[in-house]
Amino acid sequence: MQTKILLPEDRIPKQWYNIIPDMPSPLAPVIHPGTMQPVSPDDLLPIFPMPLIEQEVSTERWIDIPEEVREIYKIWRPSPLFRAHRLEKALGTPAKIFYKYEGGSPAGSHKPNSAIPQAYYNKISGTKRIATETGAGQWGSSISLACQMFGLECTVYMVKVSYNQKPYRKSMMQLWGANVTPSPSNLTNAGRAILERDPESNGSLGIAISEAVEDAATHDDTRYALGSVLNHVCLHQSVIGLEAKEQLAMVGEYPDVVIGCHGCGSNFAGVGFPFVADKANGKNVRVVALEPASCPTLTRGIYAFDYGDTAKMAPVSKMYTLGHDFMPPGIHAGGLRYHGASPLVSQLVHEGVVEAKAVHQLACFEAAVLFSRSEGIIPAPESSHAIRGAIDEALQAKEEGKEKTILFNLSGHGHVDMAAYDDFLGDKLNDYEYPEEAIKESLAHLPKVD
Ligand SMILES: *Cc1c(COP(=O)(O)O)cnc(C)c1O
Repeated sequence: MQTKILLPEDRIPKQWYNIIPDMPSPLAPVIHPGTMQPVSPDDLLPIFPMPLIEQEVSTERWIDIPEEVREIYKIWRPSPLFRAHRLEKALGTPAKIFYKYEGGSPAGSHKPNSAIPQAYYNKISGTKRIATETGAGQWGSSISLACQMFGLECTVYMVKVSYNQKPYRKSMMQLWGANVTPSPSNLTNAGRAILERDPESNGSLGIAISEAVEDAATHDDTRYALGSVLNHVCLHQSVIGLEAKEQLAMVGEYPDVVIGCHGCGSNFAGVGFPFVADKANGKNVRVVALEPASCPTLTRGIYAFDYGDTAKMAPVSKMYTLGHDFMPPGIHAGGLRYHGASPLVSQLVHEGVVEAKAVHQLACFEAAVLFSRSEGIIPAPESSHAIRGAIDEALQAKEEGKEKTILFNLSGHGHVDMAAYDDFLGDKLNDYEYPEEAIKESLAHLPKVD
């Protein structure tokens, strides 16, 4: 019985798959938060290097992966595809379950798939330093690693509460040479303004974004980097699905359903978009995003223009949103707590091309425990949402007595998130359904775009 399906290094994809030319309808414009007019490439140049701005709007279906990027991808790519024999047995399901494991990257998640090319394009464009924000630290550690690989300086604004409560990812960033600053900081106008009002502020992702963007915009040699949401991030993550498709073909399989957890959309896009392309060519495959019921962007948000951040400094995009001032509760899947979503994923959900489902925290941790005890790998709390989705599909197949092939993306391991498991095993976690009233309230503050 084959358990790991492996590709040799020379089969790392040579091109990323760009879904933009295959979208069922034209993309909505991205709006400048100051002028409320469509953003031009020139507006973005103080923030991003030109090659990434070009990728953001490219209509080329295939985009070459630079050799320098493939060389670094070789540290953990091609990532293994596993057949989950032991989980299947534990469930007693006739379904075949496959998972792509992205936890083998140095940072322990899929995020370096985009951090590496982002650092590369900055390097060749003359950037000396990257400024970014991080919540729990998954993105901050990935971009720190990438900057180290290409000899760039890196400043990470880390939400203060996480900086104090989650010191291990801070240490990872520092090991990879980054400068980590608790946010709000006194390094930026945005940070100083907050500290003046509230010297004890715990910070938030929105504040940290404002600090990092201001840092980039006010320093000629510095650019900003974002770990998800944007089209070029979804593009880079397509290596996940492209490899998975080849690996499944090696064992004569094609999935009936492809599943990814959804925070802002990048790992879901990565595993799913190459299969959405097949769907357009007549293949019968479902592609499903799993999000937390406590931050139900795709399932209970609305499809509208909204700011990317709380401080209204980031561009306004058409996406599913719970409102830019939506305050998600402090669930453990920190990487899934965002009010918005990738515009590409949003549009595909809106047009019914891909599906979205919300799952509760406790059901996800139960799935993560079953997975750890059968397959051995301890999943990130974020990834447990995809596992829940896969298990539910497998149980349905059992009930219906049907064969079914399931593919899901295991976006990362949970080794730096053991406090979450401590809480779960100690019975300290609850489910949380966001009240309809609170969603209505934050949705009342959307910007007006003609
Ligand atoms: C950041 C993160 C996510 C969520 O981000 P997406 O952009 O939605 O993929 C999921 N899993 C892990 C392990 C993460 O670190």
